[in-house]
Amino acid sequence: MNFGMFGGGGIKAGRILGIPIRLDISFFFVFGLVVFLIATQILPDGLDGLGGAERWLWGVGAGAVYFISLLGHELAHSLTARRYGMEVSSITLFFFGGVSLIREDSQRPGQEFWIAIVGPLASLLIGVGFLLIALLALDSTTTLHDVALALGVLNVFLAAFNMLPGFPLDGGRVMRSLIWRVTGSRHRATRASARLGQLLGVLMIGYGLGGVLTDVGYFNSGFSPIWVALIGFLLLTQAGQGVKASELERDLAALRVGELMLTPPDARTAEADLPVRILAPSRAQLDQQDVFIAAESGTAVGVASAVQILLLDEEHYLNDRLRDIMLGAGDVLPLEPSAGADEALRRLQKERTFVLPVVERGRLLGVVGLEQILKALGQQPPSLDSTSGA
Ligand SMILES: [Zn+2]
Repeated sequence: MNFGMFGGGGIKAGRILGIPIRLDISFFFVFGLVVFLIATQILPDGLDGLGGAERWLWGVGAGAVYFISLLGHELAHSLTARRYGMEVSSITLFFFGGVSLIREDSQRPGQEFWIAIVGPLASLLIGVGFLLIALLALDSTTTLHDVALALGVLNVFLAAFNMLPGFPLDGGRVMRSLIWRVTGSRHRATRASARLGQLLGVLMIGYGLGGVLTDVGYFNSGFSPIWVALIGFLLLTQAGQGVKASELERDLAALRVGELMLTPPDARTAEADLPVRILAPSRAQLDQQDVFIAAESGTAVGVASAVQILLLDEEHYLNDRLRDIMLGAGDVLPLEPSAGADEALRRLQKERTFVLPVVERGRLLGVVGLEQILKALGQQPPSLDSTSGA
């Protein structure tokens, strides 16, 4: 799922195991900070007789290794999701970590649990590995020792921070999976863990403000108060989005496909053998939201969306029949009218289609697409909010 705080953008940095890796602009800021800290704080003057330029080189090298460690954390999430059959669109590294853009949400709490927990486990393993190398294999008076020690501490800290129990941190997702398992309700679990994320954000902002505004020792115990407040603020914002997402999940699950599907005459019906260029003589006048039901001697056999027609190249537009572009009732797993809108949305995303046929006992009843779901959500009476428990 996408909970990136800086949008889905970023600079392409290559591909690992088929997964595109992107770098958010904020990543370079943190990379620079790591290089700076290593060069000026971790490696003191005079150690190994290092000159200024050499220390910066060590800093850049350590920054690169830190980058690979972050990637290891995200790859652990992504590869686990892939093992559950989920498609991973990209990994974006930013700010204090990364985000794996997974094309669908977990279907079971167990999946959510493992996808979430492997990231911090990877960081912990990498961190402990560096610590062991530093403490056992390297002479404690060398530069390499100090850098390995710093990378070890950084990765263990990353593991610990990510395990804080508030959505959208990994620990919050672990929490979400546990609440989901106990209550059986996905949206309640999302909301509870997002509320914990908001609480965490508020506490961090409070800690940061305490450090900035007072000189009480408790608030100045090593972590830069401004950083803590900033991260707390980002957490608060994203957790708020999580709360909204949980409301959407609840509304979606409450909607039935049968209530929002389009049936004739709202869905235009046309013979399956009708050429597309006759069905839509002017593509410029085609409404993107239009859907078509293809019929064969009076029986509905497939569905198509105006978007599909708009995307056809000239040759196919001139030569295809509705039959060639339609999604037949037999082409996909049937969506039953009693299915929830959440399932319809998941299937639309997973199968990368614009519309899905709604089928009951082998008979095609209608068609549902993103438009219908969004429209139905907009019409949700606001009173629904007060009827669902905490
Ligand atoms: Zn993670």
